[in-house]
Amino acid sequence: MQPLLTQLLNLDGVTVEDYRDLGAQLVLEVEAIKDWAICPRCGQTSHNVHQSHFHLAHDLSISNRQVLLKFNRRQFKCHTCKKPFSEALDFIGERRRYTDRFAEMIVNQVIHSDTPNVARNNGLTDDEVWSMVEYISKKKEVLI
Ligand SMILES: [Zn+2]
Repeated sequence: MQPLLTQLLNLDGVTVEDYRDLGAQLVLEVEAIKDWAICPRCGQTSHNVHQSHFHLAHDLSISNRQVLLKFNRRQFKCHTCKKPFSEALDFIGERRRYTDRFAEMIVNQVIHSDTPNVARNNGLTDDEVWSMVEYISKKKEVLI
């Protein structure tokens, strides 16, 4: 584990295990602290990791450098249902390529600016910015 980077990243539930410095980009390899997940079908806890799937996601910059998180969305196998399922992660939605807090930061920028500007300033396309606005507003609806 990288204690200093874990502290700097400040993302609940994960530790930084390793990193790659690519100049303008910093790739942080993170690992979930918990070694279990809850089956979405029956609600049972599973400790049985079936497969690992690694993904990259945009996260908040550190000192003006783009941060990409390399994370594992593990597949667990449920003993009761006898079926594998993907774990839900607190910091990122299903099939998203950016963390929730990254999307929230982008949405805040859109509120004070316009989409093409926000896209340009963050190295994103207009579509990507819009997908984040939609994603965050859906998430807020669910919470209300
Ligand atoms: Zn189950």
